[in-house]
Amino acid sequence: MAPATLYIIATPIGNLEDITYRAVRILGEVDLIAAEDTRHSLKLLSHFGISKPLTSYFDHNQQIKGERILNALRQGKSVALISDAGTPCISDPGYQLVRDAVAENIPVVPVPGACAAVAALSASGLPTDSFTFAGFPPSRQGKRRTFLIGMNALPGTLVLYEAPHRLIDTLSDIREVLGERQVIVARELTKMFEECIRGTVSEVITAVSHVVVRGEVVLLVAPGEVVPLECEPLAEVLSRLMADGNLSIKDIAKQAAAVSGISRSEAYAEALRLKNEHN
Ligand code: SAM
Repeated sequence: MAPATLYIIATPIGNLEDITYRAVRILGEVDLIAAEDTRHSLKLLSHFGISKPLTSYFDHNQQIKGERILNALRQGKSVALISDAGTPCISDPGYQLVRDAVAENIPVVPVPGACAAVAALSASGLPTDSFTFAGFPPSRQGKRRTFLIGMNALPGTLVLYEAPHRLIDTLSDIREVLGERQVIVARELTKMFEECIRGTVSEVITAVSHVVVRGEVVLLVAPGEVVPLECEPLAEVLSRLMADGNLSIKDIAKQAAAVSGISRSEAYAEALRLKNEHN
């Protein structure tokens, strides 16, 4: 066990047999375990007979707790970071702690294992040579659609996390924005009710509309033909935004670029030209 080292340890996403020998050994040897939810992790640790000082590290205490964990590392202690399930830092807390440790030249060692995104992708039958993991889509429809527009031209398979109660809304937006692609809903992986629902977006919407989808879900979207987005012509967008009268040229350019599909600098130059023309 190396002193003054931060270990990023993956834990199971359901099936406890998915923990690695190395993870169990290191968790049993470190001086301190930082866990997203200490009560949750206590169950896992006691299952493997591990009893170590435990501290919480989650989204809302990461600043203060991060500093305490770094102090322990500076004093030469070894620390393991775990999350509730899967790989820390992957849609889970940890990134800031790792970044700060790296900045101080504190060794950071990954102890790999389960990750829902990779597990789902590996069994998906969709292309795996290139993929984009984009975490949870925004929960509000407008932002979610903008987010999906950004995914339209990406090559490879798109891998998302989604809450079961938002699944149909997100699938409907995928159909709307990305078109009728092949999708997979990989649910409850490694657990008793594990299932993969495969089909076109419409087929999967129909399948999940008849049942209450419960548990945890990874949503995979096959790469598609790039759907030409219906962009509002630049001139129209600019005159609409300028008519508003409250926006700076910079903000106008930013918004115009987002909806018309051209670069911000081009939109800025055109906005400036129109403004001067009207003055
Ligand atoms: N760090 C975790 C990882 O490595 O997969 C992900 C944590 S994120 C907060 C939790 C999300 O991961 C869930 O909402 C779900 O989308 C996905 N997930 C976690 N476990 C899963 C499972 N057993 N089956 C399907 N999806 C799962």
